[in-house]
Amino acid sequence: MISGARSPEAVLHEVFGFSSFRGLQAEAVQTVMRGEDVLVLMPTGGGKSLCYQVPALCREGMGLVVSPLIALMDDQVAALRQLGVNAAALHSELEPDELARIRADLSSGDLDILYISPERLLSPGTTRYLAQRRISVIAIDEAHCISAWGHEFRPEYRALASLPELFPRVPRIALTATADPRTRNDILMALGMPQARQLIASFHRPNLFIAARPKMQEMRQLEEALARFGDAASIVYCGSRNKTERVAKGLNDRGITALPFHAGLAPQEKRAALLRFRRGEPLVIVATIAFGMGIDRPDVRCVVHLDMPASPEAYYQQIGRAGRDGQPANTLLLYGGEDIARARYWLEQSSASEAEKRVMQARLESMISLSEAVSCRTQALLACFGEHLEQPCGHCDNCLHPVSTFDGTDAARKALSAVYRTGQNFGAVHITAVLRGKVTEGVSRHAHQHLSVFGLGKEHSDAWWRAVIRQLIARGALRTSGEHGGLGLVNEVARPILRGEIKVELRQDPTVSLREEGKGNA
Ligand code: ADP
Ligand code: ZN
Repeated sequence: MISGARSPEAVLHEVFGFSSFRGLQAEAVQTVMRGEDVLVLMPTGGGKSLCYQVPALCREGMGLVVSPLIALMDDQVAALRQLGVNAAALHSELEPDELARIRADLSSGDLDILYISPERLLSPGTTRYLAQRRISVIAIDEAHCISAWGHEFRPEYRALASLPELFPRVPRIALTATADPRTRNDILMALGMPQARQLIASFHRPNLFIAARPKMQEMRQLEEALARFGDAASIVYCGSRNKTERVAKGLNDRGITALPFHAGLAPQEKRAALLRFRRGEPLVIVATIAFGMGIDRPDVRCVVHLDMPASPEAYYQQIGRAGRDGQPANTLLLYGGEDIARARYWLEQSSASEAEKRVMQARLESMISLSEAVSCRTQALLACFGEHLEQPCGHCDNCLHPVSTFDGTDAARKALSAVYRTGQNFGAVHITAVLRGKVTEGVSRHAHQHLSVFGLGKEHSDAWWRAVIRQLIARGALRTSGEHGGLGLVNEVARPILRGEIKVELRQDPTVSLREEGKGNA
């Protein structure tokens, strides 16, 4: 037991070996030291742990840390033990002898910090027991898990509302890297601490190069993005389990070591993948969103999204796993019109409540706008979290290669009429073929070469038309009419365009290759 009456600075130097607090850490620590509740928002890698570990070691009693993931707890405990702090984790996967040792330490009052899962903490036996101990601080880590609107909701976190009754006068510190104002508010409400001090760090990560690209040839684009840092660790996010397996195999076939990771893998496979990743070998993890929380590898050089995340919050968290060592790192989002249309379609079909759907829709729409952004992406991303960045960042694709726009009114009308004339039943590839006057197998099967729109857009490339169609989807003029992705008009938006009543400004997709683009940063 090393906790007791010592100053935060002394603990910072003597236990952790750091010379000074960083950013908002000092303020967070002081607030807890005064016995007040606080919400700390810091990006991943910002140094949230010290905000509760230091007060836990300074104040009288044992610190309690509620954490959602066993792997996360075990990592923290191992790190603290190395520093001579008597820490332990109480969760459902303990060996009997470990459990016995923790119980003994608890009874003798020897523990400095106890990590605990929410359901464990709130089980009657545990609360009764802990209520008799002196508790220095209660930290609620990954506090966004309490928000039903968040992307990592954990119902068991809801019960943490009872903490003030069970542990009166113990200061609480909630910590998260998820920053949107709605989630922030939810956390405060759910924890019953609306008056808590809020400490919000900047989410700007100057070492991250942020880029988004229309999806053309996914595997080739991926390979190009990964190649820029050579032998490094990278994470590739995919929208489905199947796809992670397929992409991992594709990379291995190309001589790039890659492992799939998703919730459907056997526990030992997951563990093996994590172990290899953590050990520091150059490796690509191809994962669903199941890969994330608690992944603390500092030297991830590249994060690629092969499918669009559901919200800017999820996107930020995932790209935030790159470059935690502060060195330059690249991120690339590949997005396509069909993906956008499908995401909207599935959301509409979902069984969520209307209120919940509206929130998810708003987030999806912000994510779509972010993908199509024509000005600084970092500014646009931070704006989603209510943060205003004065100047364009200078380290995103749009800053390095300003995007031009063009008057796409005529092109939009042609594309929309092609969709209409072909019966609102075909995808972007077919519509493009019709516009370009290509007699593909599909075109001749449906006799679409006889339509008036056939060949109306010969002068432009396939990619150019795909970009027009994608942007018409993004702005809501086209939608997918079913699971199989045939495009149809959204009349309220499409009609005024078709009638020539509104001007359509479109983004000129950059032609510069990614290899060129990231150079300034790589
Ligand atoms: P978060 O939980 O916000 O993702 P961590 O608490 O894991 O971040 O901290 C990230 C890294 O920064 C860790 O390696 C930690 O040791 C280091 N760190 C945190 N605070 C300081 C500090 N005041 N001085 C030096 N290094 C720090
Ligand atoms: Zn920028």
